[in-house]
Amino acid sequence: MKYVGAHVSTAGGLDKAPQNAAGIGARAFALFTRNQRQWAAKPLTAAEAAAFRKQCQKAGYGPDQILAHDSYLINLGHPEAEALAKSRDAFVSELRRCEALGITRLNFHPGSHLRSLPEEECLKRIAESIDIALSETSGVTAVIENTAGQGSNLGFRFEQLARIIDRVGDKSRVGVCLDTAHAFAAGYDLRTAESFAATLEEFARLIGFAYLKGVHLNDSQADFGSRVDRHASLGEGKLGLAPFFLIMGDPRFDAIPLILETPQPERWAAEIALLYGSAGTD
Ligand SMILES: [Zn+2]
Ligand SMILES: [Zn+2]
Repeated sequence: MKYVGAHVSTAGGLDKAPQNAAGIGARAFALFTRNQRQWAAKPLTAAEAAAFRKQCQKAGYGPDQILAHDSYLINLGHPEAEALAKSRDAFVSELRRCEALGITRLNFHPGSHLRSLPEEECLKRIAESIDIALSETSGVTAVIENTAGQGSNLGFRFEQLARIIDRVGDKSRVGVCLDTAHAFAAGYDLRTAESFAATLEEFARLIGFAYLKGVHLNDSQADFGSRVDRHASLGEGKLGLAPFFLIMGDPRFDAIPLILETPQPERWAAEIALLYGSAGTD
């Protein structure tokens, strides 16, 4: 069973997310549990959490079908102590919001060295940040997203993701979210059956599918290996439709959230229908 969905809006309240997802025929969804561009977040009330849980239950979304995304401001590998502490606090608070909402997967970008920390030291800091956050929370998995490698963002090589996971103490609560556009921009080809198989073989060898807790289904406006992060609607970018159909036909992608972050929300319903049609299921 494939859980295909999209990163939906929470305008009007978090409980609107499952309703928005159901409205486009999604079997999974992603959301920000707070304003992703601000440090300050309004505390989550018990009523908000209850309303969210109720709507998820009503629309039939279980924990394996929901992927929260953290704030873009958080940098768990920040080179400066004060900024690192602020990021760590914010990350713990994101995990706590997930706990309250019954969400078990929090997707985040690993971090950036900002050109003032060696790569290995930054990866070590990210792993320490995850360890701290996991020790202060329970029941939520920290899901590291591969990046396009834009600027000084780490996590664009599978080896870097593996280095972080290696250093994390509680391996049962760390995972990976594979973003197809980021992988492609970082130099992992997925355009043909052969290149798709080779990239996934490398993923399996360096990280392992046991850690795959989600996928972001995005075509890429940016070129192969460009290290530029620009999503495109499915079939409208440099990846084409082939990789998405290959994912739909591959059992290694069963039972995890497969989330569209494509730039035209009005097309999500059609993109979801297209993917389920390709897999011969609807
Ligand atoms: Zn992301
Ligand atoms: Zn993504």
